[in-house]
Amino acid sequence: MNIAIDGPAGAGKSTIARLAAKELGFVYVDTGAMYRAIALYLIDHDTNIEDETALKSALSQININIVYESGVQHVFLDLQDVSTEIRSEKVGNMASKSSALAPVREKLLDLQRDIAAKNDVIMDGRDIGTNILPNAELKIYLTASVDVRAKRRFDELVLHGEKPDLEDIKKGIEQRDYQDMNRDIAPLKQAEDAVLIDSSDLGIAEVVDKIVTLAKEKRA
Ligand code: C5P
Repeated sequence: MNIAIDGPAGAGKSTIARLAAKELGFVYVDTGAMYRAIALYLIDHDTNIEDETALKSALSQININIVYESGVQHVFLDLQDVSTEIRSEKVGNMASKSSALAPVREKLLDLQRDIAAKNDVIMDGRDIGTNILPNAELKIYLTASVDVRAKRRFDELVLHGEKPDLEDIKKGIEQRDYQDMNRDIAPLKQAEDAVLIDSSDLGIAEVVDKIVTLAKEKRA
């Protein structure tokens, strides 16, 4: 069984998908991490992503491996585990830019479909229900207001000892939303057959429950 969860940055997709996958005994696949791993490589190698030849040449050098350890996804660039390094804002911003380019999306399409074909998965991203797994048994579009998403990110950074600026975070989220929703290839949008969940006023456990219940109904 395949479950697709799409939605904008900061809607809580990864936390919720991870918990729901645990309850259902599914594999959780974080596709954003794959785009981030590519972005990290492009940053580290100073690749000019506007130059198609340079981009394609860089992509041909990139070897992404996805490994699951106790149900936790690790992303490797060649033999290096980059799971922590890819979490920075810098990498996220580059991922949002480079993921709009066709060669980057093509590189990840088969990898994502292949994992879904071999496992019961909850896969989260931007185009899973619309493009990667159009036949997923359950599709969720998880969103929340920009203010709520910015506040959640703010709290998370404070918790990590940082001193973030709420307005800057909000602007960053709005910019990321715009880029993801307005690109030509595989833009972020709700699939026609997706269930819309707005998590602005819901706790994590409530959203997880909703998804687990829907999944069990579909499986029955
Ligand atoms: O979800 P996360 O913030 O880790 O994703 C980083 C970026 O990767 C997103 O802003 C988006 O541009 C891109 N992405 C994508 N398609 C996916 C997953 C992520 O374009 N399926």
